[in-house]
Amino acid sequence: MPPVQKEDSSLRGVGQSAGDLSAGSTGEAGSIGLEAGAVSASFVITRDYADGLLRLANHDNYLEEYEPADLITGVQGLRYRAVMDEDVRAMWAAAARDGINLVANSAYRSKEHQSRLWNNGVATHGRAWAEQWLARPGHSEHQLGLAIDFSISASFGRTAAGIWLRENSWRYGFILRYTEENRAVTGINAEPWHFRYVGRRNAWLYSSSGVGSLEEFLGV
Ligand SMILES: [Zn+2]
Repeated sequence: MPPVQKEDSSLRGVGQSAGDLSAGSTGEAGSIGLEAGAVSASFVITRDYADGLLRLANHDNYLEEYEPADLITGVQGLRYRAVMDEDVRAMWAAAARDGINLVANSAYRSKEHQSRLWNNGVATHGRAWAEQWLARPGHSEHQLGLAIDFSISASFGRTAAGIWLRENSWRYGFILRYTEENRAVTGINAEPWHFRYVGRRNAWLYSSSGVGSLEEFLGV
């Protein structure tokens, strides 16, 4: 792991550095190491709103008619923001080196596209279902052009690709956005296939801090 870097923003993040839990650990030192090693120093996160990598889209944050200005067609014909292209390609290559063939399902979706999904979901399964499984139009991370869905299946998290992404995607700027543990915060059911790009520095801070959700990371 790289050393903790203090960022230049004046905004403070919450959470704790994972610290070096193995430092000096012998026998009972596990718990001691946790107390001594789990540094409580709060870090300063980069709220890079200039390129919007930490822009929050959830039930409470409406994106209105936002459309990314730098959408491209990248890996596997996916549409996503140019700002993440280099990291996306690096992630695909790294997975391939580990014998993992990443196959994505979708990335950018317009507000109109999300409207169709929402309306179909409500019509087919009812509103309660839609609210647990779908972002409302204007509330989806896919509208940001920063989210990638891999195979949409509840079992994806148990596949080699799902496990690899969960363990390694932070190196390329991604976080697993919706988990069983953060459902109460996000209001969205666990989605082991949905990864959100926040940039490498933010993803490292996120994963090393132990926060459970982007909402918590942003302190909202
Ligand atoms: Zn998704």
